[in-house]
Formats: sequence, structure tokens, C-alpha cells
Amino acid sequence: MPYRVLIAQFMHETNTFSRLPTTLDDYRSTWLVYGNELGERFRGTKTEIGGLLDAADAYGWTLIPALAANATPSGKLTAQTWQTIRDGIVSAVRNAGKLDGICLACHGAAVTETSDDPEGELLEAIRDIVGPDVPIAMTLDLHANVTERMARLASALISYRTYPHVDQYERARQAADLVQGIMEGRTKARCLVLQPACMVGADHGRTTTPGPMRDLLVKADAFEKEPGINVVSIQAGFMPSDISNVGPSIAVSYAPGTEQRAQEIARQLCQEIWDRRAEETVHLLSVEDALARARSHDASKGPLVIADGTDNPGGGAYGDATRMLKALMDAGIEGVAVGTIFDPAAVQAAIRAGVGSDVSVELGGHHDPAFGAPIPVTARVRLLSDGTFINDGPMGKGVRRSMGTTAVLRVGGIDVITISNRIQTTDLQVFLSQGIDPARCRVLVVKSIQHFRAAFAPIAGDIVVVDSGALCSPDARRFNYTKLRRPVWPLDNVTAPFPA
Ligand SMILES: [Zn+2]
Repeated sequence: MPYRVLIAQFMHETNTFSRLPTTLDDYRSTWLVYGNELGERFRGTKTEIGGLLDAADAYGWTLIPALAANATPSGKLTAQTWQTIRDGIVSAVRNAGKLDGICLACHGAAVTETSDDPEGELLEAIRDIVGPDVPIAMTLDLHANVTERMARLASALISYRTYPHVDQYERARQAADLVQGIMEGRTKARCLVLQPACMVGADHGRTTTPGPMRDLLVKADAFEKEPGINVVSIQAGFMPSDISNVGPSIAVSYAPGTEQRAQEIARQLCQEIWDRRAEETVHLLSVEDALARARSHDASKGPLVIADGTDNPGGGAYGDATRMLKALMDAGIEGVAVGTIFDPAAVQAAIRAGVGSDVSVELGGHHDPAFGAPIPVTARVRLLSDGTFINDGPMGKGVRRSMGTTAVLRVGGIDVITISNRIQTTDLQVFLSQGIDPARCRVLVVKSIQHFRAAFAPIAGDIVVVDSGALCSPDARRFNYTKLRRPVWPLDNVTAPFPA
């Protein structure tokens, strides 16, 4: 009899300091698909679901696809949104009949109006149905804020090992391999998690340059070769979230009998995260310093890529902060393409004006003018489109994405890709789909802090990351935490990673 395996995906990285609640419409704008639609949408893509579909073919599983849900990071999921997704997965588990295994793809840093730990809540609801023995492997983003409940109820927590995240497919295959091994009776798995007393660390998980995360991963890889150690996952955590367990963690999946060794491994890696907690491989520039780089940039080797890191929608920022754009406009820098500014009203005004016409709008800055006021501009409407494209870069290759209705607005020497659906700039198609060849620009502004590197580093002449003062500040002191476990570094004077 083929093994019967249920798969599902629930993704969200919740910035609880965002003013934008996350709704079902936000999921529909990214994806919210059920049953056999998972195969139609993700077969052949470099994603978790793409990996699980291939694994099911390879192992001959009878696959029960429940649902796949993903939305751009923003504020807490509304109660109804979470209930719809949760009930969709749980009812699929309940209606599936006897299950031999379950693979879940989650982010691991979701927060809802009703739960600070929805992934743990989901696992609990599933365990209530299937019991303690059915293997459940959960893949996670390496920016997950992992809870003890998640570790207790999962057979394994398997985080990405790359940032930019380009190994979703491989991690899902790893999860499938482990579940297959458990179903065949070759291994068993339990999971534990340990956190040091810091809310940031491991250089935010960056793997593009030598640094703490790469060193930790080398050690984790070696530990995974030990008998009885199934998976050693390193999570850097997601800082702008007002919950108890923010921050780095180590999750170890182990066979019964090796719990003590698993504890030692988690403790050793947490100690290293603690010891190197202040190490950062990227230093953010001010808007003024980035502007100076733009003025002097020699574009013969490729564009200067300015990453507006603190306005990264991928971290829950609004994507409409204007300080960097305003500085480039005021300085009269030419050959600039900005991907993107989130401003649905400006897009509608551009549609009313029509391609080739001029339109006067207050551009950007609508969600929190503290991050840069709206800029009054008269712009030429160069292009209007539905804003959809298919990723062809290393991140999520093959996945269809949507910026919503999109207008390319030309202001002076600057093309502003103005969008109606917030997305992070992770793929060259953000520009190419709008008739702009990014390699031929002098300066590119991207709304991303790290993921852009996967696609943009190969065409960039130079790269700078900017702190424009927007929502995704790297400084924890700028946020008001009420639920965070204390004491915790860097907010408190802590001298050891673990309680005495
Ligand atoms: Zn991440």
C-alpha cells in the first residue's frame, strides 16, 4: 500500500508593529490555493510545495494536498484569516482518513490576533487528530521565532540554510526524506529547541559572506552526520514581533536515545550565537551617504543597487517610504529605476490619465509619514500593466507573482514602478516585466534588505544597503515590546546566554 501523506503550507512573517492587518485578500494577492490547485500552481517550481510534489512522485506516495497560503509580511493576521487557514488545514487532516505522514511548510514567525504561536497551535490541532506517532516534518524560514510547543509536537523543524533563501526546494525534499524514513520504520524522530538570551544574532542569518551564520552551518552540517541526529536547524529569528520568544534558536531533531547529545549540540550552537551576537557583516548607510555613492558611481561595470533595507516589505514594512526617492529626485540623479513604491491611489490616478499623459500625484508616504512624507510630483505615465510576472531568478524560480495593477511613472530621470500589491524586490522581473532593463540603469533602488542579492548581485556594479529610517529598523530599541521574555540582549544587560 502506498503511504498516504498530507502536505500543506502556511506562511507568514508577522511584523506586529505594522499598522496593516493581514487579511484573506492579502493571501489571495500572493496565493491561497486548495487541493489539486497546489499541483497546478507549484509543480516544477523551486519551492517547498514543488519539492514535496517531486518527493511524492519519487516515493510513490498517495498525496493529499490540503492548502497553500502565503502573504507578504505585514501586521497580525485577523482572527478570521487565521481561522480560515487553520480550519482549512485541520479539516483536510480530519477528512483524509488514515495518514502515514505529514509535511508542513511554514515560515514560523506568524502572529495572529488570537495567537502568538499559530504554528504551534496548528501542530496541536493536527496532533489531536492523528496522535503522537504520525511523523510531522515542518520546514521553516530561517527567520522563524520557534516555540517549545512547535518543537514538542513536530518530528523535525527544518529551516532554510541560505539567506537569500534559495533552498526551499531542498529543505522540503529533506523533510520528505525524513518522513519516508520514519514511515518505513528506519528511524524515529523527536525534536527540541533552545534559545539564547538574545533577540538578534547569527548576523540575521546572512550566508552571502563569511561570518557567524556560515560558521554555524558548517558545524550543524557536521552534527547532522552523527548517528541519531536527524536535523540541526539554525534560526536567526525575526526581531520586529512583540511576542515572548523572539530571536535566534537551535532546533535539533533526534532519534530516541540521543536526546542528551541533541541537547549538547543545541547548547553549543546557542553559546556560539551568544558569543558572536554583535557580529554583523553588513553595515547600513544613511540616505545621505547612499546619495553620495550614487553621485560618484561609475555605471560602466553595472548599476549601483541601493537597497532601501528598512522599507523592506519582506520584513513587514509598507514599501512606500520616500526618503531615498526624495533624495535622488532633489539631487537630479538620472538613469534611476525604483522598484517599487506601494501606492494604489497613484496607480489609479495614472490609469485615469492614461499612458503618455502627465499625472499629478502625492507619491508614497501614505502609511506612516514618519518614514518620509508623500512627494508631490507631476509624472509621465510610461506603462500600465496588471503587474504579474514569473520569477526567473534563484529565489522561488518559476513562481507566479503579482504587484497588482502597476504604473511606471517617470519623474525627471527616475522611473518609479508604482504598485498596488506590496512585494519584496527579489527578482529582476520586477523591472523587466515593466519594460525596464535593470542592467542598463545607472542606479536601482530595491525594497529589500538581503534577498535582492540573489538576483541583483550578478548585475550590480556596486551595492549599498540603506537605513532610511523606515519600519524595519535593525535597532530593537526603537520598538515598544510588552510581551518579550526578559532579560534579553540587547535591550537588557545580560551576561550569560542561559539562566543560571
Ligand atoms: Zn527569512
